[in-house]
Amino acid sequence: MSAAVTSPIAATSFAQQRRGCRAGSAVRCSAAAPTSAAAPILADLRLQCAAPLPVLRRVADAMAADMRAGLAADGAGELKMIPSHVYSLPTGNETGLFYALDLGGTNFRVLRVQLGGKDKRVVDTEFEQVSIPKEIMRGTTEELFDFIAMGLSRFVATESDKFHLPQGRKREIGFTFSFPVKQTSIDSGILIKWTKGFAVSGTAGKDVVACLNAAMERQGLDMRVSALVNDTVGTLAGAHYWDDDTMVAVILGTGTNACYIEQTETIPKLQHLVLGTRNTIINTEWGAFSDGLPLTEFDREMDGESINPGEQIFEKTISGMYLGEIVRRVLVKMAQVSDLFGHSFPKKLAEPFVLRTPHLCAMQQDNSDNLGEVESILNDIIGASQASLEARKTVIQVSDSIIRRGGRLAGAGIAGILEKMENESKGQIFGRRTVVAMDGGLYENYPQYREYMKEAVVELLGPEQSKHIAIEHTKDGSGIGAALLAAANSKYAAQF
Ligand code: ADP
Ligand code: MG
Repeated sequence: MSAAVTSPIAATSFAQQRRGCRAGSAVRCSAAAPTSAAAPILADLRLQCAAPLPVLRRVADAMAADMRAGLAADGAGELKMIPSHVYSLPTGNETGLFYALDLGGTNFRVLRVQLGGKDKRVVDTEFEQVSIPKEIMRGTTEELFDFIAMGLSRFVATESDKFHLPQGRKREIGFTFSFPVKQTSIDSGILIKWTKGFAVSGTAGKDVVACLNAAMERQGLDMRVSALVNDTVGTLAGAHYWDDDTMVAVILGTGTNACYIEQTETIPKLQHLVLGTRNTIINTEWGAFSDGLPLTEFDREMDGESINPGEQIFEKTISGMYLGEIVRRVLVKMAQVSDLFGHSFPKKLAEPFVLRTPHLCAMQQDNSDNLGEVESILNDIIGASQASLEARKTVIQVSDSIIRRGGRLAGAGIAGILEKMENESKGQIFGRRTVVAMDGGLYENYPQYREYMKEAVVELLGPEQSKHIAIEHTKDGSGIGAALLAAANSKYAAQF
């Protein structure tokens, strides 16, 4: 890991420090309590965030137990365990032209792919990204879906002769929609609520596929939505297309989620359906998990001030949106009791979410002796122009504690899913090669986080079993994955 992580800082307790202060004169106190007054806070933080093996074990077991509860009945556990209604995964034999539409953040993406079957696979692919104006994110359902349908229509108009649609067929779309949806079939689902800054009126309670179809009709666009999928499910389908040992997909980006292939006979809440297939994908919505997580005062305060207090606690502990903010809160406390950033408190540090996970990442890659990059980030982002070398080292150590805990807990979640799967399939997971497909900006860009996560998986599973587990990055699995699911669920496809 980063060289700066090992710098020793005296571990006197916070209480001792305060007593020392009161006993001495005011002058001595401020002169003798510079950066080192932050040391007890760091020591406490490290202890609370250590996530040693027994804690990871408890988390993995609780995750597995909660998965079982959620599969038994809706609302029985913290994990929703949402059936994806995906019963046909892409096999590699798919051929033809398919589109995908991805709505899940501040951009929507459109993509087309020409599939060439077993040998040729992906013959050609093109995509475009359109940013969604703020007023559309807060407008009406019709305005949002008209905006999307117009973007799609413009993109379809640029289709060149590299792409071929057989005569008499409609263009088919896989629609990646990363908001909570009550899925009713592979090609329909009702929006439960908007999240991530969307506040579009009139959509909750409606079938989002019907909304898209209506907008496409208004645009005179004759296409058909063949699959509605969550981004995690799209990632699993995309990764499985290239490597059919893929059984689990995890997204670690702004938020986090995981899905996996489950045997239909072990899903009690689906037993009333006659499914006729052995497997399906379950979207865990694991961000909602909270049982046994090692949390600090900083996590509790951040949660209390969030727009969804008490919800998404696992997400708030391990995902990209929050890690920088947790570190900022620790630094605020340190700056209040010590001269960590000089005599005056840097004003910008008081601003929630000003310090972002990519900043932590950039600081942790600084291997120079004087931590010059750390200095310039602290200066630019929080306005700390007087951070001593000792202060810079402290910031790295705080970041590392939070990143390490996040990575280790994400690893415990993965081990929990794998152990649950192994338990019910005896030998199907640890007796052979099993791939966990990873995607998301946090996983992709933060090497330390990635390493901590993988280490935790190995610690939990042991060297023998973890030999069979491959944790692999799939770039843009979800976009292609949605198009592949449209192909696998094409109304023109032969029955599999
Ligand atoms: P989303 O999750 O919104 O679909 P991404 O998967 O691209 O989007 O993830 C974006 C998130 O990834 C950012 O919010 C940020 O937390 C994290 N991230 C992006 N770049 C970096 C980086 N260089 N280092 C660490 N985290 C990053
Ligand atoms: Mg995403």
